[in-house]
Amino acid sequence: MTFKATVLTLYPDMFPGHLGQSLAGKALERGQWSMEAVQIRDFATDKHRTVDDTPAGGGAGMVLKPDVLARAIDSVSLDGDTRPRLLMSPRGRPLTQERVREIAAGDGAVIVCGRFEGVDQRVIEARNLEEVSIGDYILSGGEPAALTLLDAVVRILPGVMGNDLSGVHESFEDGLLEHPHYTRPQVFEGREIPAVLTSGNHGAIDTWRREQALELTRERRPDLLPKAP
Ligand code: SAH
Repeated sequence: MTFKATVLTLYPDMFPGHLGQSLAGKALERGQWSMEAVQIRDFATDKHRTVDDTPAGGGAGMVLKPDVLARAIDSVSLDGDTRPRLLMSPRGRPLTQERVREIAAGDGAVIVCGRFEGVDQRVIEARNLEEVSIGDYILSGGEPAALTLLDAVVRILPGVMGNDLSGVHESFEDGLLEHPHYTRPQVFEGREIPAVLTSGNHGAIDTWRREQALELTRERRPDLLPKAP
């Protein structure tokens, strides 16, 4: 069974977006993964097709209605569906490469994109939505966050990246930031490629890369070090 993403959104035209291009787009065409974008508004029942309402207790903005969203979720994800139900949300657990790997190993994901001030708390509980954040900043909607999550997942699906090994040594895969990269020309504006990289000594190259990765991580992301193997 190939990975299937179902995205619930008020802006289905934003999908597959950039995932229709490049390696992800080719893999989509080849059927190595699939996605559908479902219009939440189709599940509104009044004649104005209302999806939001004012916040209980007052305050600015609007809140996505729980009944409309629940119907939309139920239309795509029934009891037997093993896919996690994710809600893109700045209040969620920050997305990590580890969670990305888990999601990629499954059958797919149902992804809810919030808008306005967010969604009614009761549908989060009633439909068991896992809140996922892509970082400590506020987007205007969950769509770019869903595309970001799917980008990270799709690139590690089997057969999507030409060279399967190139996914192994990325930043975070071994708990560290990645070492710096160089390519020709040998001298660029007076700066040379570090000599070890052109030495042909693979043991020395591995050691140098590991040292660079450690140093970079110490400098920029010391919070990662306790978790590195
Ligand atoms: N009032 C909310 C923010 C709403 S932003 C709060 O303060 O928590 C509108 C929608 O954008 C959210 O429902 C969510 O789906 C999406 N969104 C915004 N920032 C996000 C982030 N950092 N990660 C994931 N989704 C985000």
